[in-house]
Amino acid sequence: MQVCKLCRSGTDIKKSHAIADSVFKRIFRVNSGKAIAFSRDEEDVYYSSDSWWDNQLCGECEDRLNEKYERYSLQVLRAQKGVFNRSEHRLIFSDVNLHKLNMFLLSIFWRAANSGHVAYKNVVILDGDNEYLREALLSDRQVPISRISVKIERLIDKTREGGFSLKQLKDIVISPFCRIYGADKTKHISVCFVFEGFFVQVFVPGLKLKQRAAAGVIHKSQRFLSVPYLHLFDIEEVVELMVDGYCKHAEGKSNIKI
Ligand SMILES: [Zn+2]
Repeated sequence: MQVCKLCRSGTDIKKSHAIADSVFKRIFRVNSGKAIAFSRDEEDVYYSSDSWWDNQLCGECEDRLNEKYERYSLQVLRAQKGVFNRSEHRLIFSDVNLHKLNMFLLSIFWRAANSGHVAYKNVVILDGDNEYLREALLSDRQVPISRISVKIERLIDKTREGGFSLKQLKDIVISPFCRIYGADKTKHISVCFVFEGFFVQVFVPGLKLKQRAAAGVIHKSQRFLSVPYLHLFDIEEVVELMVDGYCKHAEGKSNIKI
């Protein structure tokens, strides 16, 4: 019998999704049950209905994370909860519970770091942080911004012609990747996620005081969040991935019909 990675009880383990199953389901629904998949590690571009699950949690812990954080946070990100305003440079979410949103994004990071699925192979976590987050998620304890910071940006495509619409950007999920900032003592990493039309970075250790003032960094005590726009092709790692996928398709290493 497997052990639940969150509560550590030996029980019936369920399929767990780091990036929510409902994110994948929405994409599959609008694309006849499958998505276009490509990766720098694989030879071909192909259709996939893989939602990147792994056996991780017991039913109770699955429900705990879904009910406490996931359902509410996806509603916030989909502008179905709180107040949502759009300006020239950013989105503003008001009247929202940012502790829940922060924990939701940290739960994705934690589940991804503990997943055996190949899509999450780049997500790394130190043992101490892993245990700290496990306990925080289990007991709904706030995670200080100095320990782990979360930043969120809304993806847009400024390409004048033939770019992705906002709706299409929501249909892109990218296997998380890591960035390394600074050197030696100031060195820290961010794990980067793209889903639901957002670019999310989890910084471990947390951002320094000055960096925390940047738009998009979640301050849990506030009731509003300013989410700046980010041009998809300003993300270097995404450009590399897209170019690689495009080349494979152009070379005929693809069964995608466009
Ligand atoms: Zn459990």
